[in-house]
Amino acid sequence: MSETLNVEKIFGENVFTPGKMKERLPRSVYKAVKQVMDHGGELSLADADVVAKAMKDWAVEKGATHYTHWFQPLTGITAEKHDSFVAHPDEDGKMIMEFSGKELIKGEPDASSFPSGGLRATFEARGYTAWDITSPAFLKESGSGVTLCIPTAFCSYTGEALDKKTPLLRSMEAVSQQALRIVRLFGNKTATRVVASVGPEQEYFLVDKEKYLQRKDLIFAGRTLFGAPAPKGQEMEDHYFGVIRERVGSYMKDLNEELWKLGVTAKTQHNEVAPAQHELAPIYETANIAVDHNQIVMEAMKRVAVRHDLRCLLHEKPFAGVNGSGKHNNWSLGTDNGVNLLDPGETPNENIQFLLVLACILKAVDTHADLLRQSASDVGNDHRLGANEAPPAIISVFLGEQLEDVVKQLVETGIAATCKEGGILETGVSTLPDLEKDATDRNRTSPFAFTGNKFEFRMVGSADSIASPNTTLNAIVAEAFCEAADILEKADDFERTVHDLIKEYMTKHQRIIFNGNGYSDEWVEEAGKRGLPNIKSMVEAVETLTTDKAVKLFEKFGIFTRAELESREEILYETYAKTINIEALTMIDMASKQILPAVIRYTKTLADTVIAVREAGVEPHVQAELLKETGALLEEARKALEVLKVEDARAAAMPEGKEQAYYYKDVVKEAMAALRTPIDALEMIVDKDVWPLPSYGDLMFEV
Ligand code: ADP
Ligand code: MG
Repeated sequence: MSETLNVEKIFGENVFTPGKMKERLPRSVYKAVKQVMDHGGELSLADADVVAKAMKDWAVEKGATHYTHWFQPLTGITAEKHDSFVAHPDEDGKMIMEFSGKELIKGEPDASSFPSGGLRATFEARGYTAWDITSPAFLKESGSGVTLCIPTAFCSYTGEALDKKTPLLRSMEAVSQQALRIVRLFGNKTATRVVASVGPEQEYFLVDKEKYLQRKDLIFAGRTLFGAPAPKGQEMEDHYFGVIRERVGSYMKDLNEELWKLGVTAKTQHNEVAPAQHELAPIYETANIAVDHNQIVMEAMKRVAVRHDLRCLLHEKPFAGVNGSGKHNNWSLGTDNGVNLLDPGETPNENIQFLLVLACILKAVDTHADLLRQSASDVGNDHRLGANEAPPAIISVFLGEQLEDVVKQLVETGIAATCKEGGILETGVSTLPDLEKDATDRNRTSPFAFTGNKFEFRMVGSADSIASPNTTLNAIVAEAFCEAADILEKADDFERTVHDLIKEYMTKHQRIIFNGNGYSDEWVEEAGKRGLPNIKSMVEAVETLTTDKAVKLFEKFGIFTRAELESREEILYETYAKTINIEALTMIDMASKQILPAVIRYTKTLADTVIAVREAGVEPHVQAELLKETGALLEEARKALEVLKVEDARAAAMPEGKEQAYYYKDVVKEAMAALRTPIDALEMIVDKDVWPLPSYGDLMFEV
């Protein structure tokens, strides 16, 4: 056996936890920090200096030489600019490492090369990063040594958010305030905050490094752009929860260790549906920390893979024809005195509160289904959502049989007969039936499923940040809570009003509930009849951000200004165009320089064979047929390649924006598909020895 790992000891080893602060800070300073952490506000510069020194001392003891304000610009990944702790030497030439409160609290990265969607003209390059005191600082070990990472938000000098975290924090504040109004109405006088909690389940693929390096598409696009199906796919269903292979197991062990040290509660791991696909889930935590930790998880997955001569693919669809990867975003709301608003509870009072919360969420999701859909869209996710795979692009809510039945009864009669106890539930009179939390009846095809005491938003893409989905969820639910509280706070007869409101919301928004098979064509048709939006692609989802409805919502709660929303739209169109352009150029490169030359060599071999066999006095039927077939596909590929070159160049020359993004989606992507078809067909007939790329079989079954 290898050396045993003391998980308790290493957990959080590389994190400047509140516990470490408590140990290292004077009591008064620690109290000030805790106050800001729990209740917001600002730390005084004097206190910040003390914290900075303690943080630096701790980091230096652990080998750190640099610090960075770690932030999440709109590129969707994290950014960091490293500064060393090195300070001016004194007159004796001796240097003492320094880190001030000012440096801790605020940074000024040259922000000009991060996307801002016109919010910050390049001549006004400065943006600033501000410490998110609620997310602990941590140490990152990499080739460049050990770096102290300080989680921050990133804004322009005029205060506009340039990142994914700022709006998330604003949305958490909004939903907390509005949810507090709701719990107050039900007599909770002690809660001071309502916290959004998130547990993201992260899917990923692992492939062998050597094979990865032979594929430019994996290197540049993170997914295969060509590839004939392997003889075996996922049809045997033998990979899901299957025995974890030795090499993958040792990767997971290393990954867990790294994550535990970083204070990430890596909890479950298993093989996923597709060959070479796996999943890791941490224990849920406060939304902004969960978002940071998910970024840390994605980074660690890639870093650890390198150490194992593997490569981690986070793309939503690395391989055509087998399942892609997503990120189930489990979300709930809880008070700081321990009440989960999504827990049906046991007393009538709790039950009514739960039903009201549920009604508000149904209303929120139905009203803003388009925004929720948008929040989960990214370029890679277009290959999953609505493309014959989990989950559909149409937002609906799964409640499970029992809860759906309760809703139905409330809608029809305003009374719900509990199925288990057989009693009657009229709000305020009796209790809800115990809801099954059993996993067996879980609907895996629903994009937004109630799973006992949380909602599981299953649309999110595996490579995407979970900041946007959670910002949107918090925002839309804050709005529904606010509207309900506005009515209920004024009500003379609270019981009656709450009863009527639950019934009203559930009646109005029941069309969003769907417990059936979300993948079926019937559902697409049915959803259309119900008037639910079916937004098929990322590009089509972009404009949902600036509808009057969306602007009103986000401005009301101070989450986004109209200008911020417009800038995000612009960035999304640009991101889409740039990504497809890279994919198109990669295909052109691979087809021109690798695949077509290999096929041409192969036709030469065939032609030589035909001649030789004929000379030997036998008619080479098979060889000649193969030559003809290969030649025809080669010609088709060559023509498609020319079309792709022309169309991609045309798209690239267009001004950036909506029209360009649509051109990439409607024309360039089509041209890419037209090139892929003959090339995948060629892969099926050309000698494997001459095919220049590792096949799907090589990539997925030989890890
Ligand atoms: P599954 O069976 O779908 O894998 P799990 O019960 O393992 O579901 O939970 C998946 C994720 O949901 C985990 O990250 C878990 O910590 C998280 N989770 C559990 N309860 C809650 C909750 N109340 N709020 C938010 N996330 C939660
Ligand atoms: Mg799950």
